Amino acid sequence: MKFFPKSRNRGVLAMNHEALDSSVSLFPTAADYTDPEVVRKAQHAHGVSISELAQDRSGEWRVRSSGLARRITANTEMELTGPAAGHPLLQTPADPSGTRVLGTVNNCANGSTPWGTYLTCEENFNGYFGTEAAGFTPTPLMARYGVGRGGNPWWLADPRFDLAANPNEPNRFGWVVEIDPGDPSSTPKKRTALGRLKHENAAFAEADDGRAVVYTGDDEVFQFVYKYVSAGPWRHGGRNSSPLDDGTLYAARFDADGTGVWLPLIEGAVPGYGSQADILIDTRGAAAAVGATPMDRPEWIAVHPQEPGVAYGTFTNNSGRTTTDAANPRPANRTGHILRWQNTGGDHGADTFVWSVFVLAGAGLGSGDGSTISPADAFGSPDGLAFDPDGRLWIETDGSQPVPCNNQMLAADPVTGDIRRFLVGPRGCEITGWTMTDDQRTMFVNIQHPGEGATDPANPAAQSNWPDFQGRPRSSTLAIRRVDGRKIGT
Ligand code: CA
Ligand code: CA
Ligand code: CA
Repeated sequence: MKFFPKSRNRGVLAMNHEALDSSVSLFPTAADYTDPEVVRKAQHAHGVSISELAQDRSGEWRVRSSGLARRITANTEMELTGPAAGHPLLQTPADPSGTRVLGTVNNCANGSTPWGTYLTCEENFNGYFGTEAAGFTPTPLMARYGVGRGGNPWWLADPRFDLAANPNEPNRFGWVVEIDPGDPSSTPKKRTALGRLKHENAAFAEADDGRAVVYTGDDEVFQFVYKYVSAGPWRHGGRNSSPLDDGTLYAARFDADGTGVWLPLIEGAVPGYGSQADILIDTRGAAAAVGATPMDRPEWIAVHPQEPGVAYGTFTNNSGRTTTDAANPRPANRTGHILRWQNTGGDHGADTFVWSVFVLAGAGLGSGDGSTISPADAFGSPDGLAFDPDGRLWIETDGSQPVPCNNQMLAADPVTGDIRRFLVGPRGCEITGWTMTDDQRTMFVNIQHPGEGATDPANPAAQSNWPDFQGRPRSSTLAIRRVDGRKIGT
């Protein structure tokens, strides 16, 4: 999510709705996906919401009635833009142009641009596609993204998600989608130049010459870190062209000596691939072909607000790793790590960088798991990652913790390396999403799927009844303020 301020006490909150709390809240009884109404309800619970918030005299934030309020779902009309738009692999019977697509799904994390738009990232889009057709075999492109038989069987009632009827429909997902939260009539744009992968977030930075830079990680084991750099300065973009449509996508190679290279994924530079559209539709394959470094699940990337050309990234875990390398130094990495990199010359637009390990997560020093943190503030599976304007690094976890603790949020000082626990969530939740008001006096954080994993699915409240402590648990947004009303973190 991202808070777009309108005034000191008012603003617009753009929020992703990644997945269903199916058994916990959306469908109190087992959902029958052959019922079109069930599928439609699930589709309309996905996507993005735009709402307006205002702070009252007591300091509480409340949702206000607003002309900007909007719900974007798995059925909202969108436009595919950039080099892959219109490619035959993006054409379907319902859209022979390959440029008009319905909806966005599995919107994980996000980003925003200095021109006031919201970036929402499609992650595990494969989970909604499948088919009952006898003898169907996924194509190699489908297999590369795990498209085959997803856990959300929408194809049972919506042929758009049936792979036998619509084999190209999954190619229209896995993109970064740009939304203008200030114009409720605007059409969201899927920006194909940023690559097709299981995007975690999209972290914006500006190169020294004014070009737009967007970092994005592909959250799956042995996938890659990417950086997009626009062709020209973003301020030069005209009314009909976007800095996110014309540029170069790079994949990262982390070398053992602490240096690294951004490998361009451009036509002519990727063995075995043809046009730029071919490369972007199969971004994963292209990054592998140029020798990018397979990572331990790249999650969020955060750009340092002051240190020139610096970004940090979370690598949440990879228990299946057997062969290590310098940037993924632990076999069977159950607890994850955070890397820091600085682009050459302190310029986000540079094509080389130096990198180092910021922290190896785990049960803490002395535990034998190689972690480099204090046992008192131990954590694992770092996921959400964001810098506040003063350079504090906020870390959110998603995974079983190496100490008796629910998922949690911590604050790090990148200068000293000190990391302290900030909050602990309710049982079954994941802490995710981070945004702040401009005055840094309110921080918004999400508690996603509290109560998940309840041993008695019919009674999830036995696991958690957060946040209102009556009945079923519900995903919710926290608005955190200091008791004394001052800046958070000082
Ligand atoms: Ca993820
Ligand atoms: Ca995540
Ligand atoms: Ca995660």
